Amino acid sequence: MITTREGSRHVTVRVPAKVNLELNVGPHRADGYHDLATVFHAVSLYDDVTVEPAADWEVVAAGPYAEQIPLDESNLALLAARRVAQAGGVDTPVRITIDKQIPVAGGMAGGSADGAAALVACDALWGLELSRPQLDAMAGDLGSDVAFALTGGTAIGSGRGESLAPVLARGSYHWVFAISEGGLSTPAVYAECDRMRGRRRIAAPEPSDDLMAALRSGDPQALGSALSNDLQEAAFSLRPPLRDLLAAGLEMGALGGVVSGSGPTVAFLAADAEGALDLAVALAAVGSAPEVKRATGPAHGAHVLSHEMTRGR
Ligand code: ATP
Repeated sequence: MITTREGSRHVTVRVPAKVNLELNVGPHRADGYHDLATVFHAVSLYDDVTVEPAADWEVVAAGPYAEQIPLDESNLALLAARRVAQAGGVDTPVRITIDKQIPVAGGMAGGSADGAAALVACDALWGLELSRPQLDAMAGDLGSDVAFALTGGTAIGSGRGESLAPVLARGSYHWVFAISEGGLSTPAVYAECDRMRGRRRIAAPEPSDDLMAALRSGDPQALGSALSNDLQEAAFSLRPPLRDLLAAGLEMGALGGVVSGSGPTVAFLAADAEGALDLAVALAAVGSAPEVKRATGPAHGAHVLSHEMTRGR
């Protein structure tokens, strides 16, 4: 819970983590990126980002992963806030407090989530009412996953992942996330993927029919079988114990499992809430991962939680 100074104006935005239900990686592009065909799915692990007027630009971190995030100018929430200030012609700095509940460098796009939250929070704090296309454009500039954190739900991402299209998805799903100690660097995982592919010709990526059919049906069994990630082997290569972790979760009854984004978090799908609890307990009991969290999806994108203006005395 974040508390700000009594009587001060502040806006708190809640923003979800994501898992890629499918991540198809195309060939390496001239600009260093890869074309993707991915299906993003927002889950109920949230960061809360609070902005309030301050004497200087500042980032403060709280929560279990607070020590792992940069508090300098590279923080995505700070970059986002400065962008909104520039677009809105605002010259008053803000303090940004991030209650960090999304694992850092875990393949769950926590940094991007904070960027999206700061866009929405600053827009509300300053009453700018920026249009959705304006926010989407800023999100796309900030990073590949920021636009999805604004949108939430389940969506197809193409380009670098910033170009989103709706997907017909039914049902609500129960997830268990096995969180490893020490993150994996996203560029390092892509580089390993390229290295492992060598000179093999890689086709333009496309979302798979199996996954689309599974999402339309709302059947967790079908979704479990359709999960896939082209970065998974690269993540295993850089962090071999992840292969055993995935196998362990499947043996314990998960309907499916996949490395989340560039890892090292492994996402397991359970049949229902009870199945997720059983799986989480079993994974924790064998000590396969230092931390195990449950969540449901799809979750809403970045949204204002509380908006408090100056209180009269
Ligand atoms: P990806 O979006 O590529 O899946 P990830 O989920 O693996 O990324 P993040 O938690 O987004 O990883 O963090 C990646 C890096 O971004 C961190 O190592 C950190 O240096 C940087 N970063 C910048 N701002 C933030 C932030 N607000 N929260 C977390 N990390 C941040």
